[in-house]
Amino acid sequence: MEEVAPNVFRASGTDVNVVILRDGGALTLIDGGYPGDVAAVEDAIRRLGRRPQDVEAMLLTHAHIDHMGAVVAFHEQYGIPVLTDPVEVAHARRDYLEQATGRDFVPMLHKHGVLPWLLRIARAGATRQLSVEAGGFAPGEALDLPGAPVPVATHGHTSGHTAFHLPGPGVVVTGDALVTAHPLSKLRGPQLLPQVFDHGGHHTLTALDQLAALDADTVVPGHGPAVFMPVAAAVDQARRRAR
Ligand SMILES: [Zn+2]
Repeated sequence: MEEVAPNVFRASGTDVNVVILRDGGALTLIDGGYPGDVAAVEDAIRRLGRRPQDVEAMLLTHAHIDHMGAVVAFHEQYGIPVLTDPVEVAHARRDYLEQATGRDFVPMLHKHGVLPWLLRIARAGATRQLSVEAGGFAPGEALDLPGAPVPVATHGHTSGHTAFHLPGPGVVVTGDALVTAHPLSKLRGPQLLPQVFDHGGHHTLTALDQLAALDADTVVPGHGPAVFMPVAAAVDQARRRAR
């Protein structure tokens, strides 16, 4: 676990990040890894001297299975509320699914690393069916939660994808709108996800405009390490590398 800024922690699931915001004894969880990452998320919370019950609310950047694991588990076990962008609520409920499935990866099975990655995420529960009844928040307004995150609508990767800005410590949690590494990418550093993961096509590029406008020098992505540079510079790099 890495404290990327005061009281902002990045913990690792299976090739995916979980972010914990701390305010005294209370926590906010942003994303929850795969279903198989629940124990890792709980362990990260306990290493901060806290219990899952100390999480006041859980935020979803988007309702893909690799971000929902501990969020759904803790919601079911402890009744902790889940919040996401109003557009993403129906996706979290699984009224529809905007996610790549195994079939989408068949054409790339011959590529280096793809099969081991598929086996690894299958073990982590990538094929499980999860859904959760989330509440919707108002984008652009600080949430009354530990860390006071401000949701930033970055629709594109999914129809209701959201990032979270922490104006105090100057951090942005970008979810899958911008990542810094992925097992299916040879690149290191700020980039978009390989296109197979994106639902929104060109909207993923538009979403970068929302990120570039933020005042933040620490970028915590959904996949890959945190990077310490102005988010506008990270966005520039991702744009230059985009397909
Ligand atoms: Zn995703």
